[in-house]
Amino acid sequence: MGRAFVYVILGGGVAAGYAALEFTRKGVAPGELCIISEEPVAPYERPALSKGYLLPEAPSRLPSFHTCVGANEERLSPKWYKEHGIELVLGTRVISADVRRKTLLTAAGETITFKFLIIATGARALKLEEFGVTGSDAPNVCYLRNLADANRLVDVMGSRSGGNAVVIGGGYIGMECAASLVINKMNVTMVFPEPHCMARLFSPRIAAYYEEFYKSKGVQFVKGTVLSSFDFDSDGQVTSVNLRDGTQLPADVVVVGIGIRPNTSLFEGQLTVDKGGIKTNGKMQTSNASVYAVGDVAAFPVKLFGETRRLEHVDSARKSAIHAVASILDPQKADEFDYLPFFYSRVFAFSWQFYGDNAGEVVHFGDFSGSRIGAYWVSKGHLVGSFLEGGTKEEYDAIALATKLKPAVEDLAKLEELGLEFALAISERPVETSPPSGDNDENPPGLAVEKPTVYPWHAAAGVAVAASVAAFAYWYGRRRRRW
Ligand SMILES: Cc1cc2nc3c(=O)[nH]c(=O)nc-3n(C[C@H](O)[C@H](O)[C@H](O)COP(=O)(O)OP(=O)(O)OC[C@H]3O[C@@H](n4cnc5c(N)ncnc54)[C@H](O)[C@@H]3O)c2cc1C
Repeated sequence: MGRAFVYVILGGGVAAGYAALEFTRKGVAPGELCIISEEPVAPYERPALSKGYLLPEAPSRLPSFHTCVGANEERLSPKWYKEHGIELVLGTRVISADVRRKTLLTAAGETITFKFLIIATGARALKLEEFGVTGSDAPNVCYLRNLADANRLVDVMGSRSGGNAVVIGGGYIGMECAASLVINKMNVTMVFPEPHCMARLFSPRIAAYYEEFYKSKGVQFVKGTVLSSFDFDSDGQVTSVNLRDGTQLPADVVVVGIGIRPNTSLFEGQLTVDKGGIKTNGKMQTSNASVYAVGDVAAFPVKLFGETRRLEHVDSARKSAIHAVASILDPQKADEFDYLPFFYSRVFAFSWQFYGDNAGEVVHFGDFSGSRIGAYWVSKGHLVGSFLEGGTKEEYDAIALATKLKPAVEDLAKLEELGLEFALAISERPVETSPPSGDNDENPPGLAVEKPTVYPWHAAAGVAVAASVAAFAYWYGRRRRRW
């Protein structure tokens, strides 16, 4: 048995939902597009699972967070797919793929043929067993990648209120789950091998800011060690967690967030892989011209960094999916994907955004005893990354633009002094539509100090050059400081 479609999206997560919307916007005929997902529900905004979904009061539930509400777009209900003639093949796992023959085989034995394939298989949560620890299948050990995981965590939390929760892993899943467990009245201990939380992104100072707050909420941190084994009761429930440093922690609930692995296995040996994902060009096209890859599974050229990266963030999933559809439907017109990496998280009343790369030296700003903090990363004399907690939309837009423009930074102390003003200055400056005379790359900072309003950048090309901190210090020196 078999069916044939012009376009098939394999995977029914975030990227699939945004791709579907883009297909309808760009024009797809009923019956041309099919989405195959092993999950039993239409695409949804996965980040909701560790936030609103885990709240004890008025939790988010589907259909409220089907894609594409996360980007303030239409909410695509199962009815929407039907109305647009998009075939949703749910609860169906694809078990093999043949990109040369353009076929997918489902676990139900159906062969689905495509003309164009978008691989949007995302990633799976790494299991403890992959690190030599057994016990993942105990009823009170939870992971969090999909709706089934979230439902299980909600049930386990609900039945053990007031008990002890151990969170294994200090990344964003660990941090967001720990916050939710506290809100659900559990006593929480976080365990991770790094010296501080969110070690892949946060500086020690940023991490300390959040950790202090978590501690004030009763969360305990056990750092520099890892889980070595569990103790179980006669029902197979975990009763305690044993750490490599000899510590034993009582546990009624264990939440494991130790990273993810992209779902590439169907395509290994058929498509080029890189950085653990399926390699694409700037059109999200893989080494097979009829096959595209998007979202967590794709490794694509990030122009801003001049290298291929694989990102595990929702904004990247949404935008890479939209870009792939544009590339498929209008290959001549579609540009190279020009993406500014963006990641956010929300825990307790905190809300932060990060843009770019956390490479090079970090410069902090803001009030670390208050509610707004920030940081810039400066590498090879240019701003490459920005972080802000508690900002307004205008301020987040400003740090995004500043990061995208990659201004030159000569004086880190001045950058620290200017803080958010530096990014706001860049976003408030008139952006020239054509470069002023002379080569902007060569423009000395001194010129900018004298004539800040004509401070040059290649606005047309979207690349700022030589935006010196000294110039902004001069320009903004007498303005009211926000930090
Ligand atoms: C709990 C949680 C919270 C998050 N919070 C944030 C956040 O705050 N900020 C942020 O930037 N990012 C966050 N993320 C990351 C973000 O959700 C992902 O980057 C995003 O979901 C990636 O989208 P995707 O479509 O590539 O993959 P996914 O959304 O994971 O979708 C992949 C889909 O493919 C399906 N699939 C895989 N293999 C097959 C197969 N063989 N057959 C059929 N179906 C298959 C999967 O079941 C899944 O439905 C969070 C992720 C999680 C899990």
